[in-house]
Amino acid sequence: MSPPRKRKAPSPTPLVEPARRESLRSGLLTWYDRQKRDLPWRRTRDPYAIWLSEVMLQQTQVATVIPYWERFLQRFPTVEALATAPLPDVLAGWRGLGYYSRARNLHRAAQELVARFGGRLPSTAAELLTLPGFGRYTAGAVASIAFGEPAPLVDGNVARVLSRLFEVEGPPGDRAREARLWELATALVPGERPGDFNQALMEHGATVCRPENPLCLLCPVREQCLAYRNGRVDELPPAKVRAAPKRMTLAVAVWAHEGRLLLARRAEKGLFGGLWELPAAEVEDDTPDPASAVKLAEALGAEVRVQGHLGTVRRQLTHRSLSLRLLRVTGHPHPTRAPAFQELRWCTPDEASSLGMSTAMHKALEAAVTAGALRG
Ligand code: SF4
Repeated sequence: MSPPRKRKAPSPTPLVEPARRESLRSGLLTWYDRQKRDLPWRRTRDPYAIWLSEVMLQQTQVATVIPYWERFLQRFPTVEALATAPLPDVLAGWRGLGYYSRARNLHRAAQELVARFGGRLPSTAAELLTLPGFGRYTAGAVASIAFGEPAPLVDGNVARVLSRLFEVEGPPGDRAREARLWELATALVPGERPGDFNQALMEHGATVCRPENPLCLLCPVREQCLAYRNGRVDELPPAKVRAAPKRMTLAVAVWAHEGRLLLARRAEKGLFGGLWELPAAEVEDDTPDPASAVKLAEALGAEVRVQGHLGTVRRQLTHRSLSLRLLRVTGHPHPTRAPAFQELRWCTPDEASSLGMSTAMHKALEAAVTAGALRG
């Protein structure tokens, strides 16, 4: 007797029904070909230049990024040029963009690319993910846009578009929602021009399926949109609950000596890591001057005396409200090395402004000089 025949397992139901998938892909690609913005990184095939644009765009608006991207590429035109540049120069090239960890990771990744890949970016998301600063989004973006790998990506724009098209529930940051969005992006990307398809999704989110007042009547995939069909466009995705920015007060030492000011380079880790500054120490809002002097003395490894105030510079970062309290100080000895900093230098204001410094600290330097830090 012959053994009973095994039943063939039914093929799994696709996450996105094939006809709908094709309609979405072709609708978005056709729309993208006609409507995409002419952005400089869309005119290059250089994977390094594309990678740089993706890193800069992560927390910064397109219009702001364009001149930074052009200047940075002029200054560091290749992976090798970036890898061999001193970190402070790279941070100086990043000044004004904020989130300096992006620049530090870019620099470290360039060095690894030279050491492990002969200065070239590898072409798959899996290999890119082994480099510093590459998360799932950046790896998917570079692999698909620069190399044509059908690698998915989800950023804020894509998340919004997919959550409306497929009625994905849950607030931003919810793990089940994120997993579902990545599944959908993975299901949609295979096919012709995966890099353009990913860009079409992002472009659609940035210009049509906007957070407020989406332009549904101009939408090329309206027929496929569940939120539109069910009158839920305004509900999806629900707004993210943002934590109030933390207050942070820094006592800033404005220490002048023979026409020069004391500048310090911060440790690599933490806020403004690796950047230059007028030496600063975190204090409470109401810390009296003598206690601020003790904090600065610990950081600088020298006796510090507060002689007066030169004003306060306030700066709003995404997650922090910064107050930089400018204290005119003197002390003994004039330090050239310090426990809390990588490096110290005595600089003229011109020399100081060419160092890699955060925008907040740059403003503090200007305010200190304007308030007479170098006079009497
Ligand atoms: Fe977005 Fe409206 Fe298009 Fe739906 S119909 S994808 S909500 S723009």
